[in-house]
Amino acid sequence: MADMQKLYEGKAKIIYSTEDPEILLTHFKDDATAFNALKRGTIIGKGEINCRMSTELFQILEAKGIPTHWIDQPAPNQMRVRRVKIVPVEVVVRNIAAGSLCKQTGLPLGTVLKHPLVEFFYKNDELGDPLLTRDRLLLLELATPEQLDQLKTMTLQINEILTEFFHQCGITLVDFKLEFGLDVNGKLLLADEISPDTCRLWDEGETDQTKRIMDKDRFRQDLGQVESAYQKVLERVLNSKTQG
Ligand code: UDP
Repeated sequence: MADMQKLYEGKAKIIYSTEDPEILLTHFKDDATAFNALKRGTIIGKGEINCRMSTELFQILEAKGIPTHWIDQPAPNQMRVRRVKIVPVEVVVRNIAAGSLCKQTGLPLGTVLKHPLVEFFYKNDELGDPLLTRDRLLLLELATPEQLDQLKTMTLQINEILTEFFHQCGITLVDFKLEFGLDVNGKLLLADEISPDTCRLWDEGETDQTKRIMDKDRFRQDLGQVESAYQKVLERVLNSKTQG
C-alpha cells in the first residue's frame, strides 16, 4: 500500500487511491456506528464479512445485468472499485415495515407491504440524513429527473434479484440501503456495499422477533450475538451461491 493515499475515512470504510486514477481501494473496518454515530462499537470480523458479502452480491447483480463499481477483492477486507462520483442520496427499498418507516408512519413492525417502497434520504450527516421528496431532491439538484427514474428502476430490479437470492438462503430481505455513483462517462453504477450493516435480514427459520434478526439491528438494539449473526448470513450466502 506504499503508493496509496488515504482519500477518505468514513464510519465503516477507508478509501485509498491506487496507481490507476480510475480505480480506488476500499478497506472495510470492524468499527460499527449507529444513530448518526451517537452509538459506537466494534463488531469483530465485520470488515471481512461485509467485504466478502458485498463481493458475492455485486457479482450476482453484475451477472443479472446491474452495473456496479466492483472490480475484485484483493484481500479479505479490501475491495477494488471503479472511481465514481457518489450521488449524495441514500436509496432505501422496503418490503416489510421496520425502522424509520414504522416510527414515522405508525405502521406496525413486520407489516408486509403490497409493493416495494423506494425512498430517498439526503446523505448529509449534519442534517441527520433527512427523508427527501422527489421535488426537494430536484430542488437541491442532487440528481436529474432522468437519473431519479433510473435510480428507482435499478433499485427495484436489485430488490427483486436480492429478495429471491436471500429467500434461497432462508432469509427474508426486509429492507436495505443502496448508494449509486456516476462513472467518467456519466453512467450510473451501483456503489458502496451491501451487507448486514445496510440490510435488515430476518431468519425465516425463527418466529421469535429478537432471535430472527441477523443484521445491524442486533448492534443498534444491544441484542447480543452480533458477530455470529453476521457470520451466519455470510455462510448461507456462500452456500447458496455454490448450490445455485
Ligand atoms: N440504512 C443504512 N444506512 C443509513 C440508514 C439506513 O444502511 O444511514 C439501512 C438500514 O440498515 C435499513 C434500511 O437502510 O436496512 C432502512 O433504514 P431506516 O430508514 O429504517 O432507518 P433506521 O431506523 O435503520 O435508522
